[in-house]
Amino acid sequence: MSVTLAESAGFCFGVRRAVQKAEQCARGEGSVCTLGPIIHNKFVTRRLESMGVRQADCLSEARADVVIIRSHGVPPEIEAQLKEQCSRLEDVTCPFVKKIQNIAAQAYADGKQVVIIGEREHPEVIGINGYCAGSAAVIDSLEDAEKMDFSAKELCLVAQTTANKKKWQEIVEFLRKSGYNMQVHNTICSATEQRQAEAARLAARNDVMIVVGCRESSNTRKLYEICGRLCKRTYAVESAQELSALEINGPVSIGITAGASTPDWVIKEVVNKMSEREDMLKTQDSDFLEEMDKTLVKIRPGQVIKGYVVYVNDNEAGVNIGYKMDGFISRDELTAAGDVSPREILKEGDEIEVEVLKVNDGNGNVILSKKAVDERLSKDKKLAEINQGDPFEVTVKEAVKGGVLANVEGITVFIPGSQLRERGFVRDLSQYVGKTFAVKALEVDVKKRRVVASRAVVLKQEREEKEEKFWGNIHEGDVVKGVVRRITDFGAFVDVGGVDGLLHISDIAWYRLDKVTDVLKVGDEIEVSVLAMDREKGTISLGYKQLHAKPWEFAFEKYPVGSVVKGKVVRLAAFGAFVNLEPGIDGLVHISEITDHYIKKVEEALAVGQEVNVMVLDVNPEAKKISLSIKALGSEGQPEQEDEAFVQAEESAGFVQEAQEEDNAPSAETEETDAQ
Ligand code: SF4
Repeated sequence: MSVTLAESAGFCFGVRRAVQKAEQCARGEGSVCTLGPIIHNKFVTRRLESMGVRQADCLSEARADVVIIRSHGVPPEIEAQLKEQCSRLEDVTCPFVKKIQNIAAQAYADGKQVVIIGEREHPEVIGINGYCAGSAAVIDSLEDAEKMDFSAKELCLVAQTTANKKKWQEIVEFLRKSGYNMQVHNTICSATEQRQAEAARLAARNDVMIVVGCRESSNTRKLYEICGRLCKRTYAVESAQELSALEINGPVSIGITAGASTPDWVIKEVVNKMSEREDMLKTQDSDFLEEMDKTLVKIRPGQVIKGYVVYVNDNEAGVNIGYKMDGFISRDELTAAGDVSPREILKEGDEIEVEVLKVNDGNGNVILSKKAVDERLSKDKKLAEINQGDPFEVTVKEAVKGGVLANVEGITVFIPGSQLRERGFVRDLSQYVGKTFAVKALEVDVKKRRVVASRAVVLKQEREEKEEKFWGNIHEGDVVKGVVRRITDFGAFVDVGGVDGLLHISDIAWYRLDKVTDVLKVGDEIEVSVLAMDREKGTISLGYKQLHAKPWEFAFEKYPVGSVVKGKVVRLAAFGAFVNLEPGIDGLVHISEITDHYIKKVEEALAVGQEVNVMVLDVNPEAKKISLSIKALGSEGQPEQEDEAFVQAEESAGFVQEAQEEDNAPSAETEETDAQ
C-alpha cells in the first residue's frame, strides 16, 4: 500500500502571485475588493474575506480604494471601467493569460478569426474574447469544432491556459484536416501541462486517485476528467471533510493531486486525514505530511538548482524549481551582460540553472539569480584556464601589504611585490595601480577562487624568447636599429632587440669625445653596427662611428681653398687659434692671419667659444690640417657677437671701434633734422 502526492499539486505561479497580492493589499491602507473570486477556491476567498478583501460579484459592486483584477484577467472595457471607479487598480492577470490576450488582439487587428479552445463561460475566456471585441469563436469540444464554418477567414487558434492538452490536439488536428488556413498558438500553461501529465501518470499506476480542489475550478475539473479516464476509482474532493464519504478500504495504492487553486494547507489536511486511517499507517514508515514534504525540493540561500521557466515578461521570469513555490528572477539578476529584457534570453519551458538568493523575501517569494550562476560558471571557466598555466591579463586594482591585488572576471589575483619585476625590489607598489599586464599563476585556490600570480615569470619568459630569437638572427657586421637605454662614462647601452649591446665611447665618434652625451641621449633611436658578439657570455659590442664617414675623408670637397666657412674658436695658442669647423675637424688660424694689424697675443683678438667666419687657405687631409684666415675676410666678414667678452676682444682688435665709428657718422637725414 502506498500514497503518492503529485509534486505539482497546489498553487501555480499565477495563483500564488494573485493571492499574495491580495494579502499584501489587505495589510495596506483602505478598502480592498476583487472583481469575482480571486481564485476558484472558497477556502482561500473566505480567508481573504476575513482579512478584509471583499468579493464583488459584478462591476457596479467593484468599488473600493483598491480593486484587484484576478489572474484570469478581464476584457479591456471592464478594466477601463474599473480604473474609473477606484483609486488604485491592481492587475494580477497571470502573464500567461496576458500573452493570450495580446495574441488575440493582434490577430483581430490583422483581420483573422480568433478561435479560443476552452470553456465559453470561463472568466479567462471571456477576458480574452474581450480583446477581439467579442468576435472570437469558442470551441469546447470536437463536436463544437465540427459545427463551425470559418471558410471565409484565416484562423488564429489559442487555448485557455487550463485547457486539456489532448482535447486541444484533437481539435487542432480536426481543423487542420478540414483545410483551414491556421495560425496555431498552443497557449496551454506549462504548469497546467505538467500538472495534467503528472496526474495522468499517477492515475495510470494507482488504484485510487484523489483530486483535491473546488468544483468551480476549471483546472481541477480537468484533472478529474484526465484521472477519471485512466483510473476508475477517481474521486474529487474539495477538502478533507469529504474523504469520510469515500469508500477506500483494503490494500490500495493512492495517488493524490490538486488543482492550481488549491492551497497547500487544504492538501495537507487531505494527506493528514488519509494518514489517520489505520490500514494506511501500517504501511507507512512516516506520516503523510512528511511524505508530502519529501516530494518537495529543499532549498537554501546560495544553492544552485535546476528549474524550468514558467513565464517571462520584460521585468522578470518565473522559474519552477520543484519547491513549494515558484521563484522569481528579476531583470537585474538575469545576466551579467547588462540590462536585457528577460524575453530576449529566456522562453517558457527553458531549463536553466539558478542560484537561490532568498528562500523568502518577506512576501513569500523565492528570489533567484541566473546572473550569479552565469558569473560562477564564467569564473570557473576562467579559473580552469588560469590553472592550465597560460599567461593571462590583469589590471591592478589596489596596492596592499606585500603586493598588489587585481581582479580578473571576478577572480581575485594577488601578485607579491617580489613578483612584479624580473629583477630588483619595488619600493612604491602604488605605481602599478591601474596598469594592465600579463601574469602567470603560481598558486590557484579553486574553492576560494583566489590566485597568486607572477609577472616576473612572464617577463623572464618574454626576455628569454626575445634573446633566443635575437641570437639566432644576428651576425657580426650586421647593421641594426637600437634604442639608447643607459649612458655611462665609458659608453652607452643600446637595446638592439631584446639584448643590450655596449657602444663604447671610442666607437661613437671619429674624434675624441669628452662625454657620451655630446652625441647621444637616453631614448635615441640609432643605427649601429655589430662589431663583435659572444652568445655564451651574452655580450655584444656595437659601433656607431663606423656607419659614418671619417671627417677628413671629404675635407677637400667640403673645404676647398678660398671657401668661407663658419667655425668656433676652441683653443688658443701662442701661434694662433684653433677653429672647429665640424666635429672632428679643427683648422688653424695663424696669429698673422687674425687681424690686418699686429697683435702681440691671440687673446687680444679672439676668445674661446667665439664664432668666426674663416677663409680656407690650405687643406691637407693626410696630415689632418687646414689653414684658415680671418684677416682675409676683414671685419665685415664676421658674424655679430653678443657676448661681452667677444666684444672686448674685438674692440681691442679694432673691429668694433670701426663699426661704431661708422654707426656714429651723421646721416644726411640727421643733419636735415638738426637744421630745422
Ligand atoms: S494555471 Fe498557468 S496560466 Fe493559470 S494562473 Fe496558473 S500559471 Fe497562470
